[in-house]
Amino acid sequence: MGKVNIGLRGWRFDEEEVFDEEGELRPLEFMEPDTRERIVRLASSMGEPCDACYLIHGDEDIQQCNVARVIYGEPIGEVLLCPDHEADFLYWFREEGGKEYAGDTELQDAFHDWFAEGGRAPEDYGGVDHVNTDPEDLPDVPDAAEELPTLEEEIEKLDDEELDALGVDFDDLDL
Ligand SMILES: [Zn+2]
Repeated sequence: MGKVNIGLRGWRFDEEEVFDEEGELRPLEFMEPDTRERIVRLASSMGEPCDACYLIHGDEDIQQCNVARVIYGEPIGEVLLCPDHEADFLYWFREEGGKEYAGDTELQDAFHDWFAEGGRAPEDYGGVDHVNTDPEDLPDVPDAAEELPTLEEEIEKLDDEELDALGVDFDDLDL
């Protein structure tokens, strides 16, 4: 079974669980709750700034922040990163004890603290392959970013009650 990224690199989904034979996103209500939570979270993370950029520039200078392209961690404790700052995260995760937070929503705060205190990857730490916290390290299949309009449509179809049932508070999604 193939694993795919949707929209942002990092979180990977079982292709057959999220897409039907025509390559259309399956209705969210038929997905496993974990998958559905990640999809909803992912949709709300699209177009958001990189966490590391945001820690540097903040709201005053939001235009200086790069849009996140990568998502790591668990829903509600995820870390959003631009390609420039992905190396810092990977260095922290591999070399600075970040790995102990794998699978834990604490990962977000722990990385933010480290970065805010000046934690950075060494200059030459670029060019590394991105880490998969997923134990099944299968090769990526082509990006499915073009499926996102469908994803947004699916989320719009859900009514507020269903979103409440997912435990997603859309007023609380901003960084
Ligand atoms: Zn950044």
